[in-house]
Amino acid sequence: MELRCADLGLQCSTKVTGDTEEELVGKLAQHAADDHDVPVLNQTLIDYAVSRAHAGGEGR
Ligand SMILES: [Zn+2]
Repeated sequence: MELRCADLGLQCSTKVTGDTEEELVGKLAQHAADDHDVPVLNQTLIDYAVSRAHAGGEGR
């Protein structure tokens, strides 16, 4: 699965990918910490990100 920051309403063209939700969220958290000065993702954002990732593609 994959997720773009833009799908979360951010002005950012980065795309993160992962084989599992955990991997995807982990990469998103790392990117958020590095590039958005967001050290911790709250559960609401994580849930939203996962839902958007599911909607976005049928990868694998
Ligand atoms: Zn971003």
